[in-house]
Amino acid sequence: MTQPRTSPLQPMPDDWRRALAVVAHPDDLEYGCAAAIAAWTDAGREVAYVLATRGEAGIDMLEPEKCGPLREREQRASAAVVGVSEVEFLDHRDGVIEYGTALRRDIAAAIRRHRPELVITLNHRDTWDGALWNTPDHVAVGRATLDAAADAGNRWIFPELTEQGLEPWNGVRWVAVAGSATPTHAVNAGPGLDRAVRSLLEHRTYIEALTDEDPESYARDFLTSTAEAAGERFGGKPAVAFELFGR
Ligand SMILES: [Zn+2]
Repeated sequence: MTQPRTSPLQPMPDDWRRALAVVAHPDDLEYGCAAAIAAWTDAGREVAYVLATRGEAGIDMLEPEKCGPLREREQRASAAVVGVSEVEFLDHRDGVIEYGTALRRDIAAAIRRHRPELVITLNHRDTWDGALWNTPDHVAVGRATLDAAADAGNRWIFPELTEQGLEPWNGVRWVAVAGSATPTHAVNAGPGLDRAVRSLLEHRTYIEALTDEDPESYARDFLTSTAEAAGERFGGKPAVAFELFGR
């Protein structure tokens, strides 16, 4: 049964060492998650990022061949702000990622390489809380990530991965979905909020193409209001909320 929307969010589990965040595009983690990631790396936990694309179709005035490398650089810089040095790209095509076994296999391979206990992804449902239509890339990558957490532990689903030396990893204990309309857990966003703003600001080319607002106030306003809204169910502290699926 789904929790009522006013019930308190529980603290995220903290008995883990390694997390892997798997999303479709550069900036997906910076629009809300980065404050939690800063808190985790501050506590000595390892977090790595895997992006299905380089976000090369994300800027109208910039051709994909120029946009992809630029957004990759911005993503690496933005990860570094919150203590993440491992950033990988799976090279699916931005905008037309297909949910299917190829995507599941690529994500399962990444999970086997990194051997995380916690996997993070972004809203895999059709809409953002019924109000806005989600993009097909987010839906495909979110779903495939939830599936791949199990695929990674099964020797027989993608036997070619074992042949490549990637042994099964059945140690994923949770998949946490950010941006969910039905969150269950949260992390205090306070200590990481300034770095989350700087992390989002590293996507400067993208933000400048998106809005005429001053990039810094745009980033700060967006992240502060999101964290305060989540905090209403987390003791009034600014928060990053997740829907947690145990395994
Ligand atoms: Zn995205």
